[in-house]
Amino acid sequence: MKRLALHDTRGVFSLTRVLSGSMARILMYHNFSGGESADPDPLSVAGVRAQFTYLRRHFRVVPLLHIAEQVASKRALDRYAVALTIDDGRRNCYEFLFPLLKEFDFPATLFVVSSFMRGEDWIWTDKILWLAEQSRRPEELVPGKLEPVFKSLNRMRPEARNARIEAMAASAEISIPQRPPPKYVPCSWSELRVMADSGLMDIGSHTVTHPTLSSITDEESWWELTASRRQIEEGIGRTVRSFCFPNGMPGDYRPSQVRQLADAGYACSVVADFGLVSRGADPYLLPRIGMALKSRPAEFSKYLDGAAYYRWRLQTVFRAPSA
Ligand SMILES: [Zn+2]
Repeated sequence: MKRLALHDTRGVFSLTRVLSGSMARILMYHNFSGGESADPDPLSVAGVRAQFTYLRRHFRVVPLLHIAEQVASKRALDRYAVALTIDDGRRNCYEFLFPLLKEFDFPATLFVVSSFMRGEDWIWTDKILWLAEQSRRPEELVPGKLEPVFKSLNRMRPEARNARIEAMAASAEISIPQRPPPKYVPCSWSELRVMADSGLMDIGSHTVTHPTLSSITDEESWWELTASRRQIEEGIGRTVRSFCFPNGMPGDYRPSQVRQLADAGYACSVVADFGLVSRGADPYLLPRIGMALKSRPAEFSKYLDGAAYYRWRLQTVFRAPSA
């Protein structure tokens, strides 16, 4: 009976994969680890390998810019196209993902935060995660229940948000180190160059300081877009064409800031909204599929095959107000 149910699911997934084959998938990754750990967020090498094996069998992994060009020209997209994207620029991408990209010959795009790469600061969301891991952690930081904390900090202006994080640390008598602890260190410029020179990794921008753009002025976001691009280009000696919005959910950026992207020299940009990319989509608001916590076929196939997409679309239709 169980076997029959699994067989049925596979049939449905094959069907949704064919139905959605003309739409592209952009996968979103953040962290990787060498082995299984108690923390389910970093995707293990074994988990990524399972996903990549599935991708090789059913899809075609292409550069993000390839999909962006097709979208911008309003042409039909290549069938079963998938792009891989990784946010922030932590070293675990170089250490654990890059060898797999070489093994599978898959291209990917890594969006880096330029002040993080330059060693000027570490990513504020990692400071929260690190504080929550400390034995004498601030009371409000409960590991695994940090969503409300991120939600309240996301939309604050950067200086107010940083002051709030410092106050949280001070309340627990912890001082946040200037440099990130090993788990949160960035790739070095030379590691970024090695990946870029392999021809497999395109390096994109994820701003200078990782602010939620709607929390800052248009003048400030213009600086985040242009200075990060300049700094990354200097660091890797290549042109930067793609951008990723920090946090990237609706309300995390304004239309005026989306319009700044083309003037700042970017060809495309990704958000964190769930969805597949259809013909004629906006190349500056490309939706993605989050791949963390999905290391087994039963967990990731429904997302890759489009079943989760159709289910979400149906829910959206039925939830829409009638007037
Ligand atoms: Zn990010």
